[in-house]
Amino acid sequence: MSALGRFAPSPSGRIHLGNILCALLVWLSAKQKDGEVLLRIEDLDTARCPKKYADQMCADLHWLGLDWDIGPGVGGSERSYYQSERSAIYQAVLEELKRRDLVYPCFCTRAELHAASAPHREDGQVVYAGTCRTLSTSEVQERTKLRTPALRLKVPEETWAFTDGHMGTYEENLAKDCGDFLLRRSDGMFAYQLAVVVDDAAMGVTEVVRGADLLPSTPRQLYLYHLLGRTPPKFYHFPLLLTSDGRRLSKRNADAGLDLLAERMTPEEILGKLAYLAGFNPSAEPKGVREWLADFDWAKVPMQDICIPAGLFLKRN
Ligand code: GLU
Repeated sequence: MSALGRFAPSPSGRIHLGNILCALLVWLSAKQKDGEVLLRIEDLDTARCPKKYADQMCADLHWLGLDWDIGPGVGGSERSYYQSERSAIYQAVLEELKRRDLVYPCFCTRAELHAASAPHREDGQVVYAGTCRTLSTSEVQERTKLRTPALRLKVPEETWAFTDGHMGTYEENLAKDCGDFLLRRSDGMFAYQLAVVVDDAAMGVTEVVRGADLLPSTPRQLYLYHLLGRTPPKFYHFPLLLTSDGRRLSKRNADAGLDLLAERMTPEEILGKLAYLAGFNPSAEPKGVREWLADFDWAKVPMQDICIPAGLFLKRN
């Protein structure tokens, strides 16, 4: 089977340097194996990710030369490559997990979840204490009258380890480090963990390249692959881009967005500088994506977060 990589952005604004680096690494990692690239729009949160942002993202990727072989505009074997149009598929998987008694309703409010005593993960997320796991059928009926519940997956007291293609071995104990995690929110929105696994499996993705902020999600996703009897893809997590003073890039860093970058630089200049930060372009020389195929090597990509030197892209910090 030939490699199939995917770029799966959640377009909640204009594409920025972090997304562009991700798309570049997805593209190079797959194409170097003579593989293909799939684009999937992760717009489950339709209020934050309206269609116009997805359209803009597609236009921006074309401008950068980061084309895709399967997905919006080019098609493929799936009916849609927009998560907002795939709810029936997620619902069917949820029903299967419910039939196997792996799912339970959770009525906890945000305030209850974030109570001071709740254990927090390193990434700031709360480890769910399992409060609603033991509710009786009558308690569930009573509470459902007052509030629509979220749905959680029961996780076992098991450690799940994997070898990342770039970051090495990573493991978490599902019960202690993650807790029972959300499959559907109380407002009906399917959770990222469920949708991403269902989609990557359905679409035949063989390699997932994404930022290291999603490394801690991977053991949960591997557990879902196991429950669904599907072979997981190979994972490659790459370091995050930081401002020159060490902060995560955010919407406030307007000059990391393509709005301003495209006014000042060509696609080749942008890709050349990103290739420099990612370790496979010693001189920040501008080149188009195809020209990086010979130089790209995961072994050259740093493991630690990358500070963008002041002046390289960003005018300020
Ligand atoms: N949609 C997610 C994001 O934009 C990425 C999901 C993934 O790569 O697994 O952060």
